[in-house]
Amino acid sequence: MPSNRVVVIGAGPTGLEAARLAAELGSPVTLIEKKDVPGGMPIHADYAALTHHFRDASEAMAEMIDAVTSNDLIDIRTGTEVTAVDGEAGAFTVGLAANGSSESVDAGAIILATGFQHFDPGRETQQYQYYELPDVVTIADAEKMIKSGSFVTPSTGKTPERVAFIQCVGSRDRQIGNEYCSKVCCGISSKQAIEIRQMVPDARVFIFYIDMRMYGYWENEIYWPAQEEHKVNYIKGIITEILPKGGRLVVRGEDTTMGRPMEVEMDVVILAVGMEPSEGTTAMSGILNLPTNKYGFVETAHDILDTVTTTVPGIFAAGAAVGPADLDDSIASAGAAAAKAVSLIRSAGVPV
Ligand SMILES: Cc1cc2nc3c(=O)[nH]c(=O)nc-3n(C[C@H](O)[C@H](O)[C@H](O)COP(=O)(O)OP(=O)(O)OC[C@H]3O[C@@H](n4cnc5c(N)ncnc54)[C@H](O)[C@@H]3O)c2cc1C
Ligand code: SF4
Repeated sequence: MPSNRVVVIGAGPTGLEAARLAAELGSPVTLIEKKDVPGGMPIHADYAALTHHFRDASEAMAEMIDAVTSNDLIDIRTGTEVTAVDGEAGAFTVGLAANGSSESVDAGAIILATGFQHFDPGRETQQYQYYELPDVVTIADAEKMIKSGSFVTPSTGKTPERVAFIQCVGSRDRQIGNEYCSKVCCGISSKQAIEIRQMVPDARVFIFYIDMRMYGYWENEIYWPAQEEHKVNYIKGIITEILPKGGRLVVRGEDTTMGRPMEVEMDVVILAVGMEPSEGTTAMSGILNLPTNKYGFVETAHDILDTVTTTVPGIFAAGAAVGPADLDDSIASAGAAAAKAVSLIRSAGVPV
């Protein structure tokens, strides 16, 4: 049946913003989130502060969630999954399942915002021994530690003296097939390096990188202050292995500026893992018949000039479901998807 409703799948930053804007444009919205709480990765993975203003992640997400829960046009369903989608643009039927019961809602348009997951560093980058060495952690683990207010060496609970970041773990890696840059990890690592220097002022912090990729204001607000004010050491180099030695970690590789082998001792090593499509993005692209690219991210129809329209009429995709994205990207594409979804409903003649 023709409907003026927009169904948004995924209530992370992208889905929350898409829902908020579609409702602001006059459409009723059903926002589906499979977890019990909305907020996406910044909430589910306990992010501490967000780039580039170091705003508290819980506070920022609470603001986005409030804007949705306080809007009468938005029906938010947590703990709910989409089981089937039938129909066509303007008149979809979306099957939902929650707590053992099922129902369906009509929708004129659908926005997919099912996001990403962190690269699993134990999967293929075994030389870093993520699952074997407790003091090898990821940037996602480090966010949790920083949020807890205490940054310690996990195996001893003691204050670390030397902390290293290794960039591009699971990204820009032809061997594992993830040739793309995950966009956010250089900025996140530099942000965390600043936070660690503030929490543990005596610790020396090193970032081993292939090349640092900072976008827009992240360069002047994070990268330069990290070096100039917070004395973070950036070393251009490739790390090939991490080994335990006398209660510490030996980090081995090559200093590519000096062109010589390098071996340094650290207390904590943080792997800057990249972004991969979430399980939900993979599952939903199957249910919605959306083509994905070779990495599993949803393909949009018109690439650079239209980053949200998919090849299935009436279905739009935004945020990290479409490819590595920071919050700026996610919010911008959410707005574009919401505007296109409501405009499609209007052009089908359904009053909004
Ligand atoms: C360690 C780390 C720190 C970061 N910090 C920053 C930062 O400081 N600043 C910044 O700009 N960016 C940061 N990012 C990037 C930021 O996390 C993403 O840009 C943002 O989360 C993307 O939002 P999203 O809504 O598209 O995806 P997600 O945040 O992944 O949200 C997707 C939502 O969809 C839900 N979902 C998935 N599948 C389904 C399904 N089948 N049905 C219903 N719901 C489903 C998920 O549960 C989730 O709630 C960071 C990334 C990492 C890895
Ligand atoms: S953002 Fe930096 S760490 Fe992440 S993949 Fe790109 S270059 Fe590597």
